[in-house]
Amino acid sequence: MPQRGAAVSAPSLNRPVNKARSRPQTLAGRHAVVIGGGIAGLGAALVLAQRGAEVTVLERDDDPTARSAEEAFSSWDRSGAPQVRHSHVFLGRLRKLLHDEYPDLLAAVLAAGARELRPLDRPPPALAKIEPQPEDADLVTLGMRRITFEWVLRQEILRLGAVRFVPKATVVGLVASPSAPPVVAGVRFRNEQGEQIRRGHLIVDASGRRSLAPSWLKAVGARPIHEKQESSGVVYYTRFYRMRPGASEPAPTADPLAADFNWVKYAIFPADGRVFSITLAVPLAFQRLKVLAQAPAFDAMVDCIPALRPWADADFAEPIGDRARPVQAMGGLINRARRFVDDRGPLALRFFVLGDAAYCTNPLYGRGCSQGLLHAHFLGEALDAHADDWAAVAVALDRRGRDELEPYYRASILADRDAVRRAEGRAPRKLVDRMQQRFFEDGVALAMRTDPLVFRAFLRMLNMFETPERAFGRPDVVARVLWVMAQGESYKQKYRLADPPDREATFSRCEAALCSGETVLT
Ligand SMILES: Cc1cc2nc3c(=O)[nH]c(=O)nc-3n(C[C@H](O)[C@H](O)[C@H](O)COP(=O)(O)OP(=O)(O)OC[C@H]3O[C@@H](n4cnc5c(N)ncnc54)[C@H](O)[C@@H]3O)c2cc1C
Repeated sequence: MPQRGAAVSAPSLNRPVNKARSRPQTLAGRHAVVIGGGIAGLGAALVLAQRGAEVTVLERDDDPTARSAEEAFSSWDRSGAPQVRHSHVFLGRLRKLLHDEYPDLLAAVLAAGARELRPLDRPPPALAKIEPQPEDADLVTLGMRRITFEWVLRQEILRLGAVRFVPKATVVGLVASPSAPPVVAGVRFRNEQGEQIRRGHLIVDASGRRSLAPSWLKAVGARPIHEKQESSGVVYYTRFYRMRPGASEPAPTADPLAADFNWVKYAIFPADGRVFSITLAVPLAFQRLKVLAQAPAFDAMVDCIPALRPWADADFAEPIGDRARPVQAMGGLINRARRFVDDRGPLALRFFVLGDAAYCTNPLYGRGCSQGLLHAHFLGEALDAHADDWAAVAVALDRRGRDELEPYYRASILADRDAVRRAEGRAPRKLVDRMQQRFFEDGVALAMRTDPLVFRAFLRMLNMFETPERAFGRPDVVARVLWVMAQGESYKQKYRLADPPDREATFSRCEAALCSGETVLT
């Protein structure tokens, strides 16, 4: 795959900022306050400023002092969003949004070294060359570090001149009129000067998965929110590497770059600046694998998985990142959906909740940043359609969330329950669930490696263009999957994936590596 150069510093100041699409100036003369400067908060600042608002972003972390995305990766303290130092993939849906609506932002991330990755160019070996179709243009993901994306987005927003970041400012509550519903008119926040108030015509909460929006709303007298939450059932372990000078990526083999062995899921994430990362996601049921947080155990696991081994070869790449914590570990990963409109209408006016604060899904599916930016874009469209009618804006935003984001929340819940069940070695109890399991495990899993139509359906689902039910429920896809299921043992043997490494032997090797301090890769 082509390599782009290392990340560059701030994009040229002469370039127009997202002028490709002009937006109605519905917020001219208005002041907006955004809580949180992560992906959804930056997305909100962009859409609000493009519509004429003066925007203040209150962010609990400090501003970056870095002059480039590369420097930010090693120096920017982002303890408010610790996932920034985990692998991120940016799905086709997000890239399409940038391509269609924010082309200058897409140009800026590409200039910063993001790679456009076309999975159809690297199909499973049995598919050989795939005949291109017009809709394939959507199936492009962006490979870059999350810090790179965030840093570039920030630079682009600063260039608008209408957005001000207030660092080290932690929001602790809302300011609202005591009406029913409350009308939110500002926030209370704490910084080094003590507690202060920042007023605005509209307030956006984009403070991420730890958002306290429900309790803030309760404190100003709003009706309770509708919320559902489930654990994702996995822990994430990530290590970053940089390819050595002159090295080129290992040639594709029959071993996929991402796979699920039930007791571990792994993936390789190509990124900007000749960097890539490896993530191991382990079901909570396997407490023994907590050792993966230590580099020797992580390296031992990587060495046991054939697809990962050449990537982590010391002659090919060197580990980079936090020397004190070379492996980043993250638990507490949830799926959650919150609604801020009930059958009586919005729970509060002039208050909008975006990104993980509203819809949070298991990072394994790589949907969070796409969801966050789409959600901010939906807010922009709701403002365009309903201008000053704040209740109508809230209802329109809620409708888009229910239609376009909630299906992915439901898909994540079902996939995670299934993964937990498989990890614990339990069979589904209901007949319908057993049939569904057979369809996916014996049918889809094989057909997507042997049939271009099913492979495309899988990619469209993965990239958030279709939910799993729609992608795999289409009659033509079902027919191909059933055909594969009807094939004899020799067909299945021919196209099946190699057996995973022995589970117990791999666990023991990881534990032994830790005890002996063995370092396979560094
Ligand atoms: C391990 C892991 C891996 C992931 N991998 C992927 C992936 O591959 N692809 C993908 O698309 N998504 C991925 N995600 C999900 C993605 O990171 C999130 O969905 C995304 O960051 C959500 O953006 P956000 O702006 O809503 O929240 P965040 O990015 O978390 O930003 C919230 C911001 O609010 C600030 N903040 C919090 N509280 C306050 C407060 N009270 N006052 C002021 N500021 C506050 C925080 O400091 C932070 O900057 C992953 C997540 C995890 C945990």
